[in-house]
Amino acid sequence: DTSPSTELPTFEIRPTDTPTPDAERDALTAAPKFGTVFTDHMARVSWSDGTGWHDRRVERYGPLQLDPATAVLHYGQEIFEGLKAYPHADGSVWTFRPWANAARLARSAHRLALPVLSEADFLGAITALVATDRAWVPTGDEASLYLRPFMYASEAFLGVRPTLEAEFLVIASPVGPYFAGGVKPVSIWVDDEFHRAGPGGTGDAKCGGNYAASLLPQRQAAAQGYDQVCFLDAATNTLLEELGGMNVFVVRADGTVATPELTGSILEGVTRSSILQLARDAGHGVEERRIPLAEVLTGLADGSITEVFACGTAAVITPIGRLAGRGWEHTVADGEPGALTSRLRTELTDIQYGRAADRHGWMHRL
Ligand code: PMP
Repeated sequence: DTSPSTELPTFEIRPTDTPTPDAERDALTAAPKFGTVFTDHMARVSWSDGTGWHDRRVERYGPLQLDPATAVLHYGQEIFEGLKAYPHADGSVWTFRPWANAARLARSAHRLALPVLSEADFLGAITALVATDRAWVPTGDEASLYLRPFMYASEAFLGVRPTLEAEFLVIASPVGPYFAGGVKPVSIWVDDEFHRAGPGGTGDAKCGGNYAASLLPQRQAAAQGYDQVCFLDAATNTLLEELGGMNVFVVRADGTVATPELTGSILEGVTRSSILQLARDAGHGVEERRIPLAEVLTGLADGSITEVFACGTAAVITPIGRLAGRGWEHTVADGEPGALTSRLRTELTDIQYGRAADRHGWMHRL
């Protein structure tokens, strides 16, 4: 990873004239429920074909006014990102590998025929927003300011073609620890009926449509008592892909760490690649390859697979305690968080919160 060498563009700051009073803000950031509290401002850049990106600004957080014919409402031309700003003990605020999110947004933009935003504009927007709303960065244990960059087709036109106008925004939401009261293993339903993505589709782009496709299977699994869904590949219905919003790993008894290879229908997680690096650093065998569900079932039954976990920005690493599918169910080892799962989680959060050396140059000070 490298920090950006380019100078960041200037964002015009247009402060709200009705800022949240300090006491109310402090109460809101103390124990927020994920995704429900937003800061006073949002960063914004507009694009139109011909002019390019323009009007870089930070403005009052508030509703968007959309013409009913706005393209995104009809054809789903929309992409987003998710990353966090982490408070460090000395009062500084940092992001984790934000250039990886900028690059992924650019890849998503390409796939969705949206305009590509430069890394400098991506980082510039985040930097300007966090500077403006710095008082909203929570300071509690494993708390952070969740950043949600997104881009949508804003042209009012019902023809099916790439938009000629787009908006890029960043909103920010204080979040508490994902696991309040300790890390708890989740249960997973391995779905052999629905797929979130297919060959040549948009699985490796972070677009809203992928999440829309995951909601019905997620609801059905929840009704059966499972926390999350793991999807299989659409081509053969036999290979592990990922969860609706997290990548998946299996750990073998010999310490080998394996995750499904990037086939085009899996999102390349920033957490995933960081875990691969940390496991490699610690001398573990690391594999990115096709992982047949059949192999996982055998491994869970004979004890050669000892840990399974999911990973993503929001929860970092989530132990998986139970896996089930049509006609089968397995507890992973004793159902408790595995040793390597816990160690990797601690290592990663220690880097993110500035408690451990940033030996890979992953942290970026805002
Ligand atoms: N897969 C999907 C489908 C996701 O939505 C996410 C969350 N962005 C991830 C994996 C994990 O990615 P990251 O580690 O970059 O948060």
